[in-house]
Amino acid sequence: MSVMSMAAPRRFSVAALNGRFHRLALNAFMVIVVAHWAEHLVQAYQVWVLDRPRPAARGVLGQIFPWLVTSEWLHYGYAVVMLIGLFLLRPGFVGRARTWWTIALVIQFWHHIEHLLLLIQAQTHTFFFGGTVPVSLAQLIIPRVELHLFYNSIVFIPMMVAMYLHLRPNDRERQAASCSCVRSEGVPKAAIAPAA
Ligand SMILES: [Zn+2]
Repeated sequence: MSVMSMAAPRRFSVAALNGRFHRLALNAFMVIVVAHWAEHLVQAYQVWVLDRPRPAARGVLGQIFPWLVTSEWLHYGYAVVMLIGLFLLRPGFVGRARTWWTIALVIQFWHHIEHLLLLIQAQTHTFFFGGTVPVSLAQLIIPRVELHLFYNSIVFIPMMVAMYLHLRPNDRERQAASCSCVRSEGVPKAAIAPAA
């Protein structure tokens, strides 16, 4: 075994996730997030452009598997997966990108609380505001289809800003980075390090 491989064991860890696997993990996470967000956009299109009745507006997968839309367990599960992803991949971000990623994490934390409340209502059959179906707190102001599209958008946008800044770091951020995202774009870290 060489000294190199002893120094960097090929083990999976949170450090590795924010190091050499950061880019891979971010890409995988983004595919899931974009696919989910696209479903919310399609649902809004079905309501607003195709003028479908709201219960019949179920996105793409929901047309084939209606339980995907009606299961509060599934919505809550997705919200938790998203929260865990934002939390686990955050240490790899530095500087301005870290700030934007944290904004996404904070908003997703609240979004996840809304889904927890929806799940509790579905389980207990006790609905807020005297309703007959689970209701989000912010549904006092915006209907559910629009509200959850809005929630997903205000999480997605700061994530995109964070990703953009993460791949275009300033000198200080480049020095502080522990991941290989930028280096794998062909800018070796040593090349920009100040001469010792
Ligand atoms: Zn990275």
